Amino acid sequence: MRSGQPVSVFLDFDGTLVDIAATPDGIDVPTGLGDALRELADRLEGRLALVSGRSISNIEGFTGKLAIARAGSHGADMRLPDNTPLAAAPEPFPPEVLRELTIFASTHGFSLEEKPHGAALHYRANPDLEAQGLAYARQLADAHGLALKQGKCVVELVHPGAEKGAAVKAFMEHRAFAGSHPVFIGDDVTDEDGFAAVAEYGGTAILVGDRTPTQAQYSLANPAEVLSWLGLA
Ligand SMILES: [Mg+2]
Repeated sequence: MRSGQPVSVFLDFDGTLVDIAATPDGIDVPTGLGDALRELADRLEGRLALVSGRSISNIEGFTGKLAIARAGSHGADMRLPDNTPLAAAPEPFPPEVLRELTIFASTHGFSLEEKPHGAALHYRANPDLEAQGLAYARQLADAHGLALKQGKCVVELVHPGAEKGAAVKAFMEHRAFAGSHPVFIGDDVTDEDGFAAVAEYGGTAILVGDRTPTQAQYSLANPAEVLSWLGLA
């Protein structure tokens, strides 16, 4: 890191700022998290971005409106603090794929999460469903030209190109972030794309938890440590 180089921070949400819950809606979001993030963004002169697999509207349902840079749906939807899109509007998820997933989920014991730009099969209630869910999602993705995202007890179909590394690069090319030393903090496999992207800018990757293998150089134990380290709690 160059002396005097400003730092930028990229943050995953689930498993990084909030503990993972049994269902996506079951998370316990610390009171005032939205305000704390905005204050952190102010201290970083705007160089803070949330980068999540959730949609922006879903996260804001828990935190209230977030006046910070943010990328939802694995980067398919990127916004500047004033809500201006950073790229062209993302494609909606194909309805025919959603119909097939809905039938599969209801007949095979998965819980389906509909997102504006993707759809996820959750199996936290029965982790033994993993192989079956992955195989089905993979053939569906191949048949429709979609990409797969695998996470902790979840597999998701998205449009190709929606990945956290692309979101990091898009923000790093924006004047608010350009020239900074990026730090990416995340817990899951999809965050590895973000870790790889910050490495291209000479940045730093921090894994939450102890998953292996990882490209991260550093780790924090859990979301409570992340919040404390960032001065958010
Ligand atoms: Mg996560």
